[in-house]
Amino acid sequence: MKTGKFVGIIVGVVIVSAVLLNGCIGSTTAKCSHEDLKIDFTAIADKKPVFSIVIVGSGPAGLTSALYGARANIKTMVIEGDKPGGQLTETSFVENWPGSKPLLGREIIQGLREQAASFGATFLQDSVERVDCSRWPFEVYTEDGKKLYALSLIVATGASPRKLGISGEKEYWGEGVTACAICDAPFYKKQDVVVIGGGDSAVEEAIQLSFYAKNITILVRDDHMRAAASMQKRLQGYPNISVKYNVKPQRIIGDGEQVTGIELLDTITQEVSTMPTAGVFLAIGHDPNSGIFKDSVHMDEHGYIIVHDRSQATSVRGLFAAGDVNDNTYRQAGVAAGDGIKAALDAISFLNEVGFNADVAARLEKKDVMSDVEQNEEVLSINSLSELEDTIATSTVPVVVDFFADYCPSCLQMLPIIDSVAHHFASQATFVKVDTEEATDIVEKFFVHKVPCLLVFNDGKLVARYNATMGRKELGEFVKQFILLR
Ligand code: NDP
Repeated sequence: MKTGKFVGIIVGVVIVSAVLLNGCIGSTTAKCSHEDLKIDFTAIADKKPVFSIVIVGSGPAGLTSALYGARANIKTMVIEGDKPGGQLTETSFVENWPGSKPLLGREIIQGLREQAASFGATFLQDSVERVDCSRWPFEVYTEDGKKLYALSLIVATGASPRKLGISGEKEYWGEGVTACAICDAPFYKKQDVVVIGGGDSAVEEAIQLSFYAKNITILVRDDHMRAAASMQKRLQGYPNISVKYNVKPQRIIGDGEQVTGIELLDTITQEVSTMPTAGVFLAIGHDPNSGIFKDSVHMDEHGYIIVHDRSQATSVRGLFAAGDVNDNTYRQAGVAAGDGIKAALDAISFLNEVGFNADVAARLEKKDVMSDVEQNEEVLSINSLSELEDTIATSTVPVVVDFFADYCPSCLQMLPIIDSVAHHFASQATFVKVDTEEATDIVEKFFVHKVPCLLVFNDGKLVARYNATMGRKELGEFVKQFILLR
């Protein structure tokens, strides 16, 4: 054999091995196309745990992906994210979920989750911090410091409610400013409140509020509402709801503890006036939660991940997007669920193309088992006042008490987050959950008038009270400050 040919073969072997190992040798950009991939056990021997499908997000899109992945006997892991279940858990009754009577958003999520789990999908109560899509298997890094490998990845991270970005909004968040009427409407009994926005969500929020609040004014910045005509017509049935047009919120005003009013600019006369209100409910649309993928995959100018043709395939081979993170048009739970199914089917086709089969599935299963990804245990529930007082008095570390109620979707969203953060701080803080509907004496003793509510005790004394939902990262930072104080 001539030396040149030999060198050529060596170079060829090195390149092929590197491709098997990293997917895209020489790629300086993460936007690599990952052509020529093949599953190679030598290359992934040291990588643990490897999942055939990793789904980021646990709303309707993530959960239907999980159902289809798991039902195809493929090792499927769902990383639930900061707010497990996503936006649907904050919705009241959903009347247009195909084939069912009206269901609460969280009931839909619960059903989808149980169905996916029954076929073997696994769930990780954690959030993704970073993904390296330039390598394959993709490397997924979580906020709790875990690293997972994914042969295919489905991004189903949804979208988050937009904020106004005006003065007072942050200061009074959870103290009169909120984006969830279903969670907070009961706290505004017989009070005047405003809803900002002119879309379908604004109509929904106003209707939810109408059962509790005295007067609800929808503030619309244009001279018309964007909401569907049928939705606008629904408003006629609620005499305590009115609509004010051509007004732009300028500033949210409060007394230091609670919202007392909102400053509005009349866009026609340019006059600024203050409208007294006890609550400001935001319904001004959403932004896609695609930030962690911004250097990896092609997006449109608004940050929505671009998918190709009728598939859920993105610009990165093996990476798929489903639901609101790629849908700026429909934004419906049913559409997201359909996207999730398509994404899983696309992922399965991709896996087949790269050599996935029953033998590979069995070898992967043997290679690493689920215990490779440590799961969080549920935090202790206490519903007896004396037991809680004992815990607070005897603890040598900060005690974090989470008050929740079954009727409060944000509270239910917080529960797995509490489990995850409690696991993270294991010996550094004690976490306790209190069901406010069961433990009325605890509620009275500690003046818990709103849920979700977190109380923190240090050296037996109450040192902090927090009345809004927190994501995993935020809660972690919140708890850390009390640990550092000791
Ligand atoms: P939309 O984007 O449809 O509407 C947002 C509204 O907020 C618009 O009226 C917009 O005004 C206004 N807005 C945006 N920014 C500001 C600001 N800074 N200050 C004041 N107003 C602002 O969002 P929705 O959440 O209402 O709906 C999202 C999607 O979900 C839609 O497709 C909707 O149909 C769907 N949906 C369906 C429901 C149902 O069928 N039951 C219920 C809820 C939502 P402008 O028009 O001037 O841009």
